[in-house]
Amino acid sequence: MDERVLIRNVQVVSPGGETRTGDVLMADGRWSFPTTTPGDCRVIGGTGMVLLPGLYDLHAHLREPGREDSETIETGVAAALAGGFTGLTAMPDTVPPVDNGGMVHSLRDIAGRTAGFSIEVAGCITRGRLGQELAEIGEMQSRGAVMITDDPEPVSNPQVLRRALQYARDLGVLVATTCDVKELSGSGAMHDGSVSYRLGLPGLHPCAEEIGIARDIRLAQSCGSRIHIRGVSTARSVETIRRYKSEGVAVTAEAFPHHLLFTDADVGEYDTSFKVKPPLRPESDRLALIQAVRDGVIDVLATDHTPHTWFEKTRDFGSAPFGMTGLETALSALHEGLIAPGRLSWETLVERFSTAPRRLLGLEVPVIQEGSAVNAVLFDPAREITFSPETLKSRSHNTPYLNRTLKGSVVWVAIGSKVMVDRLERAGD
Ligand SMILES: [Zn+2]
Repeated sequence: MDERVLIRNVQVVSPGGETRTGDVLMADGRWSFPTTTPGDCRVIGGTGMVLLPGLYDLHAHLREPGREDSETIETGVAAALAGGFTGLTAMPDTVPPVDNGGMVHSLRDIAGRTAGFSIEVAGCITRGRLGQELAEIGEMQSRGAVMITDDPEPVSNPQVLRRALQYARDLGVLVATTCDVKELSGSGAMHDGSVSYRLGLPGLHPCAEEIGIARDIRLAQSCGSRIHIRGVSTARSVETIRRYKSEGVAVTAEAFPHHLLFTDADVGEYDTSFKVKPPLRPESDRLALIQAVRDGVIDVLATDHTPHTWFEKTRDFGSAPFGMTGLETALSALHEGLIAPGRLSWETLVERFSTAPRRLLGLEVPVIQEGSAVNAVLFDPAREITFSPETLKSRSHNTPYLNRTLKGSVVWVAIGSKVMVDRLERAGD
């Protein structure tokens, strides 16, 4: 049923417009800014709340097909909506991997049944993600793949990556690479530094990422292709990207919220929920990354939502898999850690986490303007949210925020004329 909702006195943050506070009406799936109070609608008191365009996650592992014990498309979408996302790109590292047109087609078919929510499908760069032969890039694109990536693996052979970049350039497909020199990272489990020495864990040397990033961008430059760099985590990586951008290379870069909010010290006493790749880095890298998100060297924020079962993540630190979930926690965590203390603005967050990822893929960018289609999130900075096994929508709970409470919560999400999330009633709005 079409809902008519008036949100009163809310702060509206929208690309292409000044942030302003006032009344906003959702009717027939479109926004308007009424000057008199309309009748026949639900009224939400929005004082102190922020209305944002729906976020978009360019980097989510949904595990279907093959590992539905850790996540499915359905549970991943529920987690995304709960966290304020209205669209995402599903990573191709499923079992089997998405490396052919038929797989893209069948995944898009499943995703298409998820009404209202936009799921885009990424394909692999190489067949089986093995780094040897190119996957069916043209075939996957013609079936609707928006991006190719071997994430979480790099394309180790530079000649294979060069051919992929040339091919993708001619087709207009976005190549997204995860940068890691495997000979350097080896069996490392966390950042190579004082904390890994103290814990006696094998280190992941930052050179593995930094050399990988320099190599991949240089290859893209040499073939006149654009490239998207995933999971930037060190200050030197940022400086390499900054330099190539200043030379006019068509490189874009992505960072994950956990690298902006945690350091390697948070691993504490072998807490596997902090085992991620690239690993959590020292404070100086974290601060450089925040600055890069602010000044635009980092174009996109993405969660790298990586579900693992309890059984997998409770192994010892050395053998537990890399990755944490992020769809449900990212916005509240960034709010508490960076926005509330004044280190990141809502406008920058919207650019990096809603506008830029969609623009990269050529998708429609949601705005909140007179007459524009509804695709938005209402966020209450004063509302606390606790992430417990009972409340999490994701099938996996491998997040450092498990059983923790954050200040600031998504309270309402709408797409078109449908309300997808509504936590307002409980608070007695
Ligand atoms: Zn990933």
